Amino acid sequence: MSKGNIGVTSDNIFPVIKKFLYSDHEIFLRELISNAVDATSKLKTLSSVGEVKGDLGDTRVRVTIDKKKKTLTVSDHGIGMTAEEVDKFINQIAFSGAEEFLNQYKDKAEAIIGHFGLGFYSAFMVSKKVEIFSLSYKEDAKAVHWSCEGNPEYTMEDTIKAERGTDIVLHIDDEFPQYLEEATIEGLLKKYCKFLPVEIAFGKKKEWKDGKQVELDEENIINDINPAWTRKPADLKDEDYDKFYHELYPMQMDEPLFHIHLNVDYPFNLTGILYFPKIKTNLDVHRNKIQLYCNQVYVTDEVTHIVPEYLTLLHGVIDSPDIPLNVSRSYLQSDNNVKKISGYITKKVADKLAELYKADKDEFAKKWDDIKMFIQFGMLTDEKFYEKATGFALYKNLDGKYATLDEYKDQVRENQVDKDGNMVLLYTNDADAHYTYIERAKAKGYDVLLMDGELDVHIMSQAEQKNEKLRFVRIDSDIIENLIKKEDAAKDTYTDEQKEGLRKAFEALLPSDADKLKYYVTCEAAAADALPVFLTQNEFMRRMKEMSAHQQGMSFYGQMPDSYNLVLNTNHPLIQELVAKETSEEVQEKPTPDPSLKGGENGSEEPKNETIIKTIYKLEGEDERLKQLIDIALLASGQLKGEALAKFVNRSVELL
Ligand code: ADP
Repeated sequence: MSKGNIGVTSDNIFPVIKKFLYSDHEIFLRELISNAVDATSKLKTLSSVGEVKGDLGDTRVRVTIDKKKKTLTVSDHGIGMTAEEVDKFINQIAFSGAEEFLNQYKDKAEAIIGHFGLGFYSAFMVSKKVEIFSLSYKEDAKAVHWSCEGNPEYTMEDTIKAERGTDIVLHIDDEFPQYLEEATIEGLLKKYCKFLPVEIAFGKKKEWKDGKQVELDEENIINDINPAWTRKPADLKDEDYDKFYHELYPMQMDEPLFHIHLNVDYPFNLTGILYFPKIKTNLDVHRNKIQLYCNQVYVTDEVTHIVPEYLTLLHGVIDSPDIPLNVSRSYLQSDNNVKKISGYITKKVADKLAELYKADKDEFAKKWDDIKMFIQFGMLTDEKFYEKATGFALYKNLDGKYATLDEYKDQVRENQVDKDGNMVLLYTNDADAHYTYIERAKAKGYDVLLMDGELDVHIMSQAEQKNEKLRFVRIDSDIIENLIKKEDAAKDTYTDEQKEGLRKAFEALLPSDADKLKYYVTCEAAAADALPVFLTQNEFMRRMKEMSAHQQGMSFYGQMPDSYNLVLNTNHPLIQELVAKETSEEVQEKPTPDPSLKGGENGSEEPKNETIIKTIYKLEGEDERLKQLIDIALLASGQLKGEALAKFVNRSVELL
């Protein structure tokens, strides 16, 4: 038997492992099982090149709990280790500048594990003593027993072990009784080991019989050793992909919309399958479903810095040995490999979508409503994706027809270009509320888009920025004649004073809630068969307000009251009738004296004090009618509610 000190140049490695790695201590199991799987895979490789002769026999990795002895054991039948190898790989934790590094990173657990390759030593996070029993595959090898109680001293001696391979025995610390519980261990195995390439057995299979769980003879295998992403796409059918999706997300009921199988070996290694889930609202519940693997070992489902943000909405797996898994997040962000991977995934996803659109436009259109959130989010946050996405990002009109922006522009070019050469795309976000406006637009032969998605406002603004002479205008943002101005506006014959009188009369009767709601009264010569009074809402202000809900730095717009124009249609007989009822009055107005005219040559001359005669118009005794007209305008755009609505109904009955 030999005793020795573990070759870390610092004494304090154990306290560091125990204390600072505390938060993530469950990863010990992943580390030990990865080592067992590696040792088994290495053996298989040696066997395939003829360096290990004969049948390999049982190669399963087993995890067992002994509650009495309070041990958890990971056993493999891999290559094993000779005493020299244990000394080299376990005793001499070889790294340079250990002390310095430890001091610097005392509290960064993950970085330490990554840097040291401390995989095996993570066992000490949860154990008061760890033992290794190992028999190397090498001819004439002697079995070795290593033991260590969580301090830099260890013992090593020969032992007797019948089977090739390694048993790692953890004497679980009293602080962590959960690691002696079957349910906890099974949970961890399912989390980290579900797709490892070597079978992992844990206990026996169980079955329900007569209301009781009974153990079968068969071992309980935790993992699927050939998960779909490691197989060739040509060997997989759609059903296989769907099945794998449910293997990944047993709680997920919906079928994915479609999938992308990733497979690269240059300039980095990456395989995986990404699924498009249905996303309607609430981006967040769909986030962080992609699982990241490193050679089939589960690492994390936080892929935020590895894939572009919008891709975190996808589901599926990415497996890459080239992603530096154990380093800090800020490092990931600046890592070149990670950037390349992220760029590759973007390109691959965009290409696949383009291909799907080309192959079957109708089929793609059917799925559009479910994937649009994802694509729009990508367009808004990733320039490269935007460029590709213009080829398959769709717009839907009120007839339920879909088209890309370019296709749609061709469709409306003839009728929807204004006199200044701007193409105006009309839209609504609520076809019911805008019914009257839509009817008027249709009567003019205009097409109306349905833009009711959460990101649509942003998508429109982006399209306007990228396309010269393109404007989106909501159907209720002006009178129809002004939405797409074809020639100079029609005029009415009223004087400014007459219109001013009319405006004031209406203004006095508007509901007042100035903090939240503001109305501006305007006179416009709209079509005679349009409503006498109606509301419009300025496109720019409304959109700024909508966008402020999602964007930082725009709270200024968010705090502004909602503002509407109350348009008095001077071409409508009812308004004309009201104008006719206006009474006029002449008032004298003194102009403010012009200081430059002050005084003559000798200073004695008084400034000329001419007065101006002005005609003022007033509309009196028509309040009930005016109120009724205002209410009709409010009603037509869905704004008349509660008490105001009740009053309107009563007044209508009285008028009848
Ligand atoms: P890493 O796995 O990152 O190299 P570890 O501390 O986990 O670091 O393991 C150190 C080395 O010990 C491994 O590279 C391997 O050579 C050896 N080793 C650990 N566990 C086993 C095992 N179960 N069978 C054979 N060799 C092992």
